Amino acid sequence: MRVCHSIDEMRAGSRAAGREGKSLGLVPTMGALHEGHLSLVRAAKAQCDLVAASIFVNPLQFGPSEDLAKYPRTFDRDRELFTQEGVDFIFAPSVEEMYPAGAVTYVTVEGLSDKLCGRTRPGHFRGVTTVVSKLFNIVEPDRAFFGQKDAAQSTIIRRMVRDLNIPVQVVVCPIVREPDGLAMSSRNAYLDAQQRESALVINHSLRAVQERFDQGEHKIDALIEAGIRVFVQAPSVRLDYFEIVDPETLDPVDDLSRAALVAVAAFVGKARLIDNTLLMPA
Ligand code: AMP
Repeated sequence: MRVCHSIDEMRAGSRAAGREGKSLGLVPTMGALHEGHLSLVRAAKAQCDLVAASIFVNPLQFGPSEDLAKYPRTFDRDRELFTQEGVDFIFAPSVEEMYPAGAVTYVTVEGLSDKLCGRTRPGHFRGVTTVVSKLFNIVEPDRAFFGQKDAAQSTIIRRMVRDLNIPVQVVVCPIVREPDGLAMSSRNAYLDAQQRESALVINHSLRAVQERFDQGEHKIDALIEAGIRVFVQAPSVRLDYFEIVDPETLDPVDDLSRAALVAVAAFVGKARLIDNTLLMPA
């Protein structure tokens, strides 16, 4: 396993793999690893000869009043976990390496970047698409692995890859949850015991919608209301959005004849948490 802190080192490693005819998978992360991240590594290992995982807390995707400074940084533990999973390259650049002074070029997926989390977090998705396109240019992976947990992010990255003809196959992997249903997230570390308990309403709200849908309720307003109503059980949790959208356009849907994404974001204490589920027509 090689830890690459510089772009040149990482690129040399990935080019050497290419010369040997080996396929390369990329798993971009911000570290503070959990089973969700490791599931992406396992998928990458299953589908590619070699795996590169990046650890980079990307300042460009944090707003001025967000948790960039406090975001958990656990590099030694992350290196250990990636090593155990058989990752071949860890790419862990500094902020200066990724954004040298004078960097003024951004990648924006217009329109989509203002939906869902993009509305509450202006500039967030521009930060994501800029860093992911840089990672694609540096690592030149054959496949890149992302989590359905960040559903809008996956949609936006797939659109960017299509629009810019980036030669990478985007693979989206299922959400990994704690046994009680809470979606795994590095930000769960911010929760105290009581907040951890309250945070369950997020997943319960999605389950409520799924249940109503399975029982035959197909009116969007009624489904959204069923989801939002669950939040009454945890008044300290502040709902950011609860929407049912088209998974490709991220626009609210007005019927459920096709797959629809139920997406939720809520503040629990200092943590802003997201989760989602897909409603599939019968
Ligand atoms: P992050 O470190 O939060 O930027 O996440 C890195 C990657 O891991 C992204 O593609 C996320 O969608 C994915 N990820 C985060 N949490 C989960 C989870 N609970 N299940 C599956 N993938 C996840």
